[in-house]
Parts: sequence; C-alpha cells; structure tokens
Amino acid sequence: MEDCLFCKIAAGEIPSNKLYEDEELIAFYDIDPQAPLHFLVVPKQHITSAQELSEENAALLGHIYGVIARLCREQGCEKGYRVVTNVGEDGGQTVPHLHFHVLAKRSLAWPPG
Ligand code: 5GP
Ligand code: ZN
Repeated sequence: MEDCLFCKIAAGEIPSNKLYEDEELIAFYDIDPQAPLHFLVVPKQHITSAQELSEENAALLGHIYGVIARLCREQGCEKGYRVVTNVGEDGGQTVPHLHFHVLAKRSLAWPPG
C-alpha cells in the first residue's frame, strides 16, 4: 500500500534493524523500545489492524506466532515476554498496518495503561 510505513519497511524501501524475514513477514527492532528487548513482527501483506482479520488469516497468524516463539527462544526469553497488537485510536495504534509487539527482558506491569 502506498504511503504505508510498514509496507515500505517490509519492501526494504525504508531500512530497519531486522531480526528475521521470510516471504510472509518481517521482524525488526522497534525504533523506540519500551523494554530491553522490543521487536515488531509485521506481515508483508497490508492488513490495517487485527480488526481486519478473519478465519482466512489463520495460517498467517499461526506462522506469526510460530516465528515469535522461535525468535524468543533464540533471544533467551525463558523468563517470559508479552505479545501485543494495538488496534485503533483507543488501542494506541499509531501505525495502521498490523503488527505484533514483542516485549521482553524486564518484568512487565499489568494492567497496561
Ligand atoms: P503502534 O503504536 O502502532 O502499536 O506501534 C507502532 C510502533 O512502531 C511503535 O512502537 C514505534 O516506536 C514503532 N515505529 C514507528 N516508526 C518506526 C520506524 O520507522 N522504524 C521502526 N523500527 N519502528 C518504528
Ligand atoms: Zn502497509
């Protein structure tokens, strides 16, 4: 999608500090980390948010969570981590392209603000 930041990062048009990439998704470090380890997992297909998902995206979502589990194993997140996807204005979404935050390496408060 034109003028979408994460489409441009996924296409390599804007550089990112990449952890992993395959045909379906890219994972890169967040530019403004909220934990000692904070990366984003982003499908290459433009999907605006989790609100646009349906059962048709089951395989993609399974793949995303499989990659997250593998990356967290590789990064040594044995004490745990949090996966967050913000949706819309009240959810705090600032980039309107589906992405999953992975936050780790500190104890995370609950409930979130
Ligand atoms: P949201 O607020 O939509 O849930 O998350 C968007 C995230 O993208 C934020 O955590 C923000 O720091 C990150 N972000 C925004 N622009 C860039 C960028 O150009 N590069 C990287 N690596 N992260 C970005
Ligand atoms: Zn996009």
